[in-house]
Parts: sequence; structure tokens; C-alpha cells
Amino acid sequence: MRAVVLRTPGPAATSLVLENLADPSPGPGQIVVAVAHCGVCFHDVVVRNGTLKAGVTMPLVLGHEIAGHVVAVGFGVTEFREGQRVATTQRSHVCGGCRYCRSAREPLCADAVFLGDIGLNGGYSEFVLLDASAVVVVPEAVDLRSASVAACAVGTAYHSVVAVGLAQPGERVAVTGASGGVGIHAVQMARAVGCEVFAVTTSPGQVGALRAAGADHVVCHARGSDFSADMRALTGGEGVDVLIDCVGTASFQPARKSIARGGRWVMVGQLSGDFVPFNPAQLFLKGISMLSATSVTREELRRCLDMLARGSVRAMLGESLPLTDAARAHALLEAGAANGRLTLAVAA
Ligand SMILES: [Zn+2]
Ligand SMILES: [Zn+2]
Repeated sequence: MRAVVLRTPGPAATSLVLENLADPSPGPGQIVVAVAHCGVCFHDVVVRNGTLKAGVTMPLVLGHEIAGHVVAVGFGVTEFREGQRVATTQRSHVCGGCRYCRSAREPLCADAVFLGDIGLNGGYSEFVLLDASAVVVVPEAVDLRSASVAACAVGTAYHSVVAVGLAQPGERVAVTGASGGVGIHAVQMARAVGCEVFAVTTSPGQVGALRAAGADHVVCHARGSDFSADMRALTGGEGVDVLIDCVGTASFQPARKSIARGGRWVMVGQLSGDFVPFNPAQLFLKGISMLSATSVTREELRRCLDMLARGSVRAMLGESLPLTDAARAHALLEAGAANGRLTLAVAA
């Protein structure tokens, strides 16, 4: 099979190399999926350039946002058959037996293998080998390109807004970094729940797209500036009930000042490696809860695919590139020139 292999960290043009690898065959409990589309995530960029080292073992094949067709089924797999359209969670394996796996919190499983970070098993490839428990069936109404980003972009938004943020109809929800991949899906998700949605962005060019995604208010501010006065003005001085934070340190203080008494602050993104000083009393005197979101569970992925099928959220897709253009996809992402999620078309 053809696959884009990463052997040592470096620039996209020289480190992402198309190679021929042996076709995988499924062991017990495993399936092989022919990749139709694979999303290209900023996670892939930081693995490729060597910034992210934790949990990464090279050589590897990147790609954790995969949809395609089942082409082989291993012993003991009863849930799937050849030809079925499937999408992956972001993991190829979890143990299935630990307390996290048994309580539907399997992203926290100590044995979880993040797809594309370890081994030659990611989606920048014609075939991937996965545990059957790592995939779900794609509803007929959802195209495979949208399905490929259901776990990472749509699913992380669902996990943050619904599962962790517990956003309720009628509540005020703000999203910082709202023009980003998770951000714009979080705006849609909060709208789908029935919330009043505040999109916070540093990209004036994205105001229209954010309104189209369901933002009732768009707060546009200069990078690093304090947007909390705008947020308070728009909420009668109260602030928002849920803040989905896709930025981290750079907007920490304005985010804190934008949250209402009793609000939930969901940390989901961190764009820099910087630390931030804060006084815990600034949170508990207002009853603000600080929470964090990881990644989508298998059950949440099913719900996201159902939402895509019903049209209550839409996958915000950018350009589709051939597998051989993986380096160009990374260059576009690094230049901030990707308008929506980029995907690689493999056997589409
Ligand atoms: Zn991703
Ligand atoms: Zn486990």
C-alpha cells in the first residue's frame, strides 16, 4: 500500500515521504479499513515538526481523522462486515476493561493508542488496521468526507459543549478561538443545543462565517487584548454561563472576566506553551468551575454522526487534496491558509 511516512521530525516538504508498505491483515478483534478521506489536523503538524513528543514514536504514518470502507474483518468481529462505511474515533486501541473503558470514558484509558502517533498505522495511507471497537458505522445521509472529521473537529466540540460544559437551552455560551476547527464546530454545537452563542475571534474576515455557523454575537478583538468589557456589555454585565476556551494562556484573564457567577470554564485548547498566574479566589468567590475536555468517546462519535445526518451541525470542510499532497496540506495549515478542515482524498 502507498503511505506517507514520517521517519524524523522536520519541514513538511522533506519529512513527509510517500513509500510502499506491506498491506495490513486483521488479527482477532481487528478490522482493516480502506481510507477514503483523512482529515489533516494541527496535531499532525506539531507531531511532524517535533513540537509534540509525548506519546509519539517514529517512524509513523500520521492521520487520526479517518473514514472509509471495511475491507477485511478479523476473527471474532461480529459488529462489522466487508463493504461497510465506517469512521474512526481518534484511537486505534483501548483496553476495554479498565475503569475508564467500563464507564464510557475510554479516551482516558492508559492503554489508548492515539492513531497516527505510534507506528505505521495512521490515515495518510491506503489502509489502516484498527480494533473493531475503534470505529462506528457512518449513517447513509453522511458523506465520507464529513464523516472523516466527525471525531476530531465535530466530536471535540460535542465533548466540550455538551458532555463537559453541560450547556443547557437558553444558557449563554462563549467560544474563544471561534474561527478554529474545534471553535467553529463548538459555535454550531451550542446553537444546536439552543444556547445564546458568543463567538470570540481575532479574525475579522471570519465574522460572516461565524454568524452563518450560528453565533448570535461575534466579538472581534486584537490578539492578546482584553475582550471582557465587550462580553459584559453584551450580557447585561453578567457574563456567560459556559466558556469554551480554545485559546488558553493568551486569553486567560479576559476569559475569566467574561464568565458569569456559577459559570463553567471548559479548557480545550492551548495555543502556546506559556504558563499563567492566577488567584484561585478569583474563581471560587464567583463559584466558577474550571473543567477540561479531552477527546470524543465512541458513543459521542455516534451522536455526532447522527447530528451530521440530521443537519443540526455541518462539517466545515476546506480543500480536498490527494494523498501525494500531504506536505502541501501541512504548509497550508502552517500558513493559516486553510479555510475549513483540509482532508486528504485517498481512495475516495
Ligand atoms: Zn484531529
Ligand atoms: Zn481501558
